Amino acid sequence: MEPPEVGELTPPDRMLMGPGPSEVHPRVRRAMSTPLVGHLDPAFVDLMDEVQELLRYTFQTDNEFTIPVSGTGSAAMESAIANLTEPGDTVLVPDNGYFGDRMASMVRRAGGSVERVDAPWGAPLDPDDVAAACETHDPDVVGFVHAETSTGVLQHDVPALTETAHDHGALVVADTVTSLGGVELRVDEWGIDAAYSATQKCLSAPPGASPLTLSERAVEKVTSRDAPVRSWYLDLSLLADYWGEERAYHHTAPITNVYALREALRLVAEEGIEARWERHERVAGALRDGVEAMGLGLASESWLPSLNTVALPDGVDDTVVIDHLLAEHGIEVAGGLGDLAGDVLRVGCMGHSARPANVLALVAALGDVLA
Ligand code: PLP
Repeated sequence: MEPPEVGELTPPDRMLMGPGPSEVHPRVRRAMSTPLVGHLDPAFVDLMDEVQELLRYTFQTDNEFTIPVSGTGSAAMESAIANLTEPGDTVLVPDNGYFGDRMASMVRRAGGSVERVDAPWGAPLDPDDVAAACETHDPDVVGFVHAETSTGVLQHDVPALTETAHDHGALVVADTVTSLGGVELRVDEWGIDAAYSATQKCLSAPPGASPLTLSERAVEKVTSRDAPVRSWYLDLSLLADYWGEERAYHHTAPITNVYALREALRLVAEEGIEARWERHERVAGALRDGVEAMGLGLASESWLPSLNTVALPDGVDDTVVIDHLLAEHGIEVAGGLGDLAGDVLRVGCMGHSARPANVLALVAALGDVLA
């Protein structure tokens, strides 16, 4: 067999303003080009402690069990769902976006039964509906999506949801993939039992090592399960031996991704988490003002600064706009999903991409294509 002829890697220079990944900060790229050490090297063990400490700050939690899960956001998501769902458990899952559906699939695979809390795509859950569903179904776990990337909806009133769930003895799992590091999130103060995230959104690191934090109550459920978790790789009671005191081998950590995450989290700590939330709101606010000045509106009832769903005028083909922005301006944005397919553009304003220069370029380019 002849060896294939493949040229040197030269990816195009893109401005990443879609639903993720966002642009990676140069300091994070530099961290990724530093030499590997072993995943059990004492130097790496120290670095693991630092990453855990920085993650706790970013999640605003004191949870001991706070780790990056090897894999993309879905790996952290599945570890939360699969470990906290025992066969026969009832899990409440939102019905107002794409990632609620993914949560539901994961619950079913873990042997749980799914009950949905309804809200239209583009609207947040109403805490009264969550309370009514808790009354009717007496769930073991209540899941919600803090920042729904498919619709650009921010779930507000999180403490109202967690209080209701706890009153019914349920644990609360939050999808914080598009909020961590970009939108106000207070895991401890808001009473969230498990929050999972990803690195390629508001943290602006490449995908591959995904944040997860569990409260003591959640850890207790994981460690006192009757049946072992069906996935060996994502069994958090086994992973705890690697990320906990013992540092015992479980699998080979993605060293370079952990370096990247460490640097990305150092940037969060340097900026200050609250200042970072404020920057996302300010820069995305300029984006919102810019598109509104063009006569376009946002399609979401609960604005999510990190993901803006821009409603397209009737008769405008979203794929033409998306293709033009990429081909003529090198700017990546995405179209709508599910109920919003064809009607909106999804424009991210996340992490290192949440900069005034990016917003200016995007608004100008949108004006160009829609003129
Ligand atoms: N949850 C939400 C809200 C997301 O936006 C995503 C990805 O976009 C995921 C989960 C899954 O993450 P990943 O694609 O990194 O596996």
